[in-house]
Amino acid sequence: MDRRELGIYVHIPFCLKKCAYCDFLSFPAKKDTQRAYFRALREEIAAFSPEGGMEAVSVYFGGGTPSLPDAEEIVRTLETVRGVFSLSADAEITIECNPGTLDGEKPGAYKEAGFNRLSLGLQSMDNDLLRTLGRIHTRERFLEEYRNARGAGFENINVDLMYGLPGQSLSSFARTLSEVISLKPEHISAYGLMIEEGTPFWERYHEDDLAKQRGDKPLFLPDEEEEGRMTDLMKKTLRKNGIFRYEISNYARRGRESRHNTGYWKRREYAGFGLGASGQIGKIRYRNTSILEEYLKHPGMREEETSLTREDEIAETLILGLRMTEGVDLRLFQECFGIRAEDLFREQIGRFLEEGLLEMSDDHLRLTERGFDVSNLVMCTFV
Ligand code: SF4
Repeated sequence: MDRRELGIYVHIPFCLKKCAYCDFLSFPAKKDTQRAYFRALREEIAAFSPEGGMEAVSVYFGGGTPSLPDAEEIVRTLETVRGVFSLSADAEITIECNPGTLDGEKPGAYKEAGFNRLSLGLQSMDNDLLRTLGRIHTRERFLEEYRNARGAGFENINVDLMYGLPGQSLSSFARTLSEVISLKPEHISAYGLMIEEGTPFWERYHEDDLAKQRGDKPLFLPDEEEEGRMTDLMKKTLRKNGIFRYEISNYARRGRESRHNTGYWKRREYAGFGLGASGQIGKIRYRNTSILEEYLKHPGMREEETSLTREDEIAETLILGLRMTEGVDLRLFQECFGIRAEDLFREQIGRFLEEGLLEMSDDHLRLTERGFDVSNLVMCTFV
């Protein structure tokens, strides 16, 4: 029987409080709601029947703040995952943690349960910026918890950063970068701030009535050129320190690329569990309900289920593949779809090759450095 590699995503939607820019499916909740959620979550996982040959190569507990609830709930949930799925011996098992919640015995409990990768949402080392973002932690608290996690034996740590923040200067971002690098994390994810509708940042940025009623000051962001300088600085500084870009927003030491996220970009199948979680098994893409009351009553209830068409799969293979610096494997593309990508998109690929935004070598099609700066423009032509 063919081996089918699978990723597993488990969503923990709880946060201590909502950050000012966040539009993720996350919210504060009382302990008894959290307990009810974990009961439902384990029920959903236990009801899943893996198809023959499926082997989980990565498990990812994301949120929200998975490090907020009692560690015991997380440990029992991972046990449930292990009871249902066959995990490869070297499976990457990650838990997302937010500084300010990774206290006491938690890192040790996660390690003992089998988590082998930890992702810490730092965002910035500048305490004023952290306050502006509405984060619950300080630089000092992050440093304490980072060391605590290392002390518990975590040898694979990701640090999340943000740039293009209100009031952020290039030198403040440079300080954050150099302090983070000095901690020698294996992986860094760095995202430019997006102003999402429905968030306090949106209200402030657009100076709408709600923001005025609250007396909030308007939000000023670094301009595009300054944000471009931040991206350049980050690429150069990280490369100089042996941390290489392997995806638009992700950088890692060699061999420490996130196996779970790489699975999404390579279109590996994945099972998603929890409130609002998505999955894709075979050609079926689904999303669970994002209404908590519904989920607690009917764990695993879906609000959307679609069957991917050949066109969807072709577009996704190109768009997701181009996010990675290794690019799209053209030989695999031809094997999957029975046609060469170069023939199917002859005009677009030809034009971008000529303009120096794409390059082709070793049977791979990839964005050039310049192409990465305008990746949306290139990718949308494949839809
Ligand atoms: S900690 Fe993360 S998920 Fe929670 S509110 Fe902040 S940004 Fe959103």
